[in-house]
Formats: sequence, structure tokens, C-alpha cells
Amino acid sequence: MLTLRGVRKSYTLGSDTIHALRGIDLDIARGEIAAITGPSGSGKSTLLNLCGLLDSADAGEVRYDGATVAAGNEQERTALRRQTIGFVFQSFNLVPVMSAHDNVDFPLYLLGIAASERQRRVAAALEAVGLAAFGQHRPDQLSGGQRQRVAIARAIVKHPRLVIADEPSANLDAVTAAQIVALMQRLAHEHGTTFLIATHDERLLPHCDRALNLDDGVLAGGSYAH
Ligand code: ADP
Ligand code: ADP
Repeated sequence: MLTLRGVRKSYTLGSDTIHALRGIDLDIARGEIAAITGPSGSGKSTLLNLCGLLDSADAGEVRYDGATVAAGNEQERTALRRQTIGFVFQSFNLVPVMSAHDNVDFPLYLLGIAASERQRRVAAALEAVGLAAFGQHRPDQLSGGQRQRVAIARAIVKHPRLVIADEPSANLDAVTAAQIVALMQRLAHEHGTTFLIATHDERLLPHCDRALNLDDGVLAGGSYAH
């Protein structure tokens, strides 16, 4: 469902050029749970941003469900991202003044979905992460693990084809981490949801279909041997 060919990305800092990705080839299949590992500064966030269509490559090709994503066309990227990609960040990025329910509802509201359908879907997503009883709690009234589960409910509520997660289990206890693994596997298996996760968590890695290692902008194990 996601293919990268010869993808490069550099940043300019003053007079320096930083080569964050140096020719990435990557194939991720529908329903696959793929982990990205690699030391700090190796390019993991840059790769997640490109795969999540938050940013575009300097060179190379990004194909999403077989269609090439044009580097210059930000409108097309934004529309595709809103419809089909869910994000989970290490820092949750929940809106502090909104209840768990309203945080999860927000992406559906942005998509213009009718209130009754939103209500049903928000309830299902909160149920899926084990937080059916916590919809009216604000983030500051929830534990770290519960907040991360709200963030995951928000990512999956629009039935994304791809979920991108940056160290999603970093702040979770063992029980919650195991629940998240089970949820990912269920969504991958039942709905073909694809997961791309930056993680070093030994509680998660054994449950991923594949681990890809990034080292200074070069990816090992990205493409299948055909
Ligand atoms: P990781 O997520 O593995 O820590 P990043 O993708 O964040 O790696 O960073 C890869 C390299 O690109 C690092 O050298 C980092 O300092 C640099 N970098 C990332 N984002 C920017 C930016 N916006 N401006 C300049 N340099 C950046
Ligand atoms: P919904 O009421 O939103 O259709 P369900 O109760 O059937 O959801 O399923 C529970 C969770 O499973 C949903 O919150 C959603 O994360 C996920 N899910 C359901 N259907 C799909 C789908 N077609 N594609 C991806 N994920 C789905």
C-alpha cells in the first residue's frame, strides 16, 4: 500500500546541509505492522513525516495505494492524509480543554461527518481502546496510559488505511502496552489497517511483522526481495 523509491530529504541549517534520508526504498503491504528502529538523528521522524504525507521528498517517488503522490501538490497530500492516515505521537497532542470524547470526535468533525454517525463511531473507538467509561474526562483527569489510548482512539476513529506512530508505547505500562499490541493486531487482521511505527520497545517489536533499521539516513530491510 506504501512504496518509496530512491527517496531523499535534506535540511538546510545555516550554511550546512543535513542529509536526513539518503535514498530510501521501502515497501509496506496492506495490513502489515512494520517497525522502524534506529538511533536518535538517524531519520526516523523524517521518514514517518514523508510516509504520513506531512512533508514531501526532495527526490524520489512516494506511491500510496499505487498512485504517485506529487511532491508539489500540498492540497492533494492534505486531502489524502485527512481521509486515510491516522497519527499517534509520543506526546499525545490531545487538546487539553476538550474531553476524551471531543478529542476523538474532532477528526470526524473535520471530515464533515453527520453528528449521529460521529457519535456511534466515537463510542466504538473509545470502546476499542478500553475507555468507554472515560469519554467525559479531560486529558488532565486521565493517566499517561489512558491519554495515549485516547490518542490511539482519535487516530483510528476515521478508519484510516495507514496508522503512523512515533514511539507510541514509550509512556505506557506493560498491561497497556500489551492492550495496544492486541488492538493493532486486531485492526490489521480484521480491517487490513497498516501500521508504521518508530519504536525501540522490546514489548512491541516481537509482535511486529518486520523491523527496519535506519542508520544515518539509510534503511536496511526496507524492500522485499522479489
Ligand atoms: P530521528 O527521528 O531518528 O531522531 P530525524 O528525522 O528527526 O531523526 O532527524 C534526522 C536528521 O535531520 C538529524 O540530523 C536532525 O538533526 C535533522 N533534522 C530533522 N529535522 C530538521 C529540521 N527541521 N531542520 C534541520 N535539521 C533537521
Ligand atoms: P465503527 O462503529 O466505527 O464502524 P466498529 O465497532 O465496527 O467501528 O469497530 C471498532 C473499531 O474498529 C473502530 O473504532 C475502528 O477503529 C475499527 N474499524 C471498524 N471498521 C473499520 C474499517 N472498515 N477500517 C478500519 N478500521 C475499522
